[in-house]
Amino acid sequence: MDGKVLPRSFKTQAPIIVKGEGIYLEDESGRRYIDGCSGALISNLGHGCPEIIEAVTAQLGRIEFAHPSRWRTEATEEAAREVASMAPEGLDYVWFVSGGSEAIESAVKLARQYYVERDGATTSKAQVIARWNSYHGSTIGTMGLAGSMARRRLFSPLFLEAPKIAAHYCYRCPFEATYPSCGLLCARELEKTIRRIGPQYVSAFIAEPIVGSTVGALTPPEEYWPMIREVCDRYDILLIADEVMTGCGRTGANFCVDHWKVTPDIIVTAKGMAAGYVPTGGIIVRNAIAETLRDGSGAFLHGHTYNGNPLSGAATAAVFRYMKKHHVVENARAQGERLATGLRKIEATNPMVGEVRGKGLMWGVELVADRATRAPFPKPRGASALATKECLERGLVIYPGGGMIDGVEGDNFLIAPPLVATAAEIDEILKRLEEGLDAASKKLLS
Ligand code: PMP
Repeated sequence: MDGKVLPRSFKTQAPIIVKGEGIYLEDESGRRYIDGCSGALISNLGHGCPEIIEAVTAQLGRIEFAHPSRWRTEATEEAAREVASMAPEGLDYVWFVSGGSEAIESAVKLARQYYVERDGATTSKAQVIARWNSYHGSTIGTMGLAGSMARRRLFSPLFLEAPKIAAHYCYRCPFEATYPSCGLLCARELEKTIRRIGPQYVSAFIAEPIVGSTVGALTPPEEYWPMIREVCDRYDILLIADEVMTGCGRTGANFCVDHWKVTPDIIVTAKGMAAGYVPTGGIIVRNAIAETLRDGSGAFLHGHTYNGNPLSGAATAAVFRYMKKHHVVENARAQGERLATGLRKIEATNPMVGEVRGKGLMWGVELVADRATRAPFPKPRGASALATKECLERGLVIYPGGGMIDGVEGDNFLIAPPLVATAAEIDEILKRLEEGLDAASKKLLS
């Protein structure tokens, strides 16, 4: 029998990657690439970091697996202490899973169980309001929440559709308004939607603090998250921040919500949490929620074999220790400013760059056929795919995306290097990006 990996795509054959070092990746032919998007905003500490490798290897030598229904491990306890030490005040409980989608599902189930424990089994609080142009995972449960058209249409008969509000997409405002005179119609839509459904049926609102993969780093106006927090409080609804991409220092803050001094009830994290060294995800939970379960039924009625996996715990604890010791979040902030300055120059000069947006080392670039009208490229032109190809030919990996708002497809990509990138490396990324986009725009606009 000839065993084969079922590939993500049969159309193109991805090269085999054999080595990683810092921000660089090397394929089997010896070609080196800058990992300009940290995989998918996961390899926050770059590749081959000796401290993390040593911590995971040492854990393998102690205990590689212990079933979470029977055992605790020091690695996981330590990981919880480390994660909570960088999380907002009052969120001390961490539930560990293997990835982002599992973490989202854990958050949704926890929100439901919390209200059952608090108000009794007859509570009707269960629905989760989400947003269009968002992404929360690929499982059937998470796809009902997420609004990325491109990814969901094929599977929509399988999942339960969550109610959704529009995301803050100021460049193409869904309300055709302009900030700040809009008065944040997008945030106010949450209250209207809660009232339409009835707050007694709603358990939570979930959103990415900066939208990640669907529309390229949509960054909210300053007032957005404080307004959302206030509405959730007023209607007794939990606020779930999906920080799978934005968490763990990515945006130049420990967690992205810190930029607006907002404390969610549950933070969902994954990716940067163990920085790609071991599959990991988790939810960081407000004490009052965890303690309601503690004083009620006494257990979260949910579980996976890999909950609290010791290897994930060892990697997570080592990543957080590394971040503190090497001032990684501060570096993300400083290098983020350098990257932003360079991107703004590209925005000013490249004729197909409509907008650059982001924070820290998480930036989105939206490509348009006409900067004056903001008209997107016709889909068959494959603008973001071409930009990605031109950058790759120059040894820079970027993360292509495509959003859709009110039925219009868009082109965008993310640029999000490892948080340990140096100033010289940021300059090199900008150089390759500028050249790649120049080449792409010449082809697309000729
Ligand atoms: N939420 C967000 C914001 C994400 O970006 C992702 C992954 N891209 C997920 C959830 C799902 O995570 P995973 O792929 O680890 O299941």
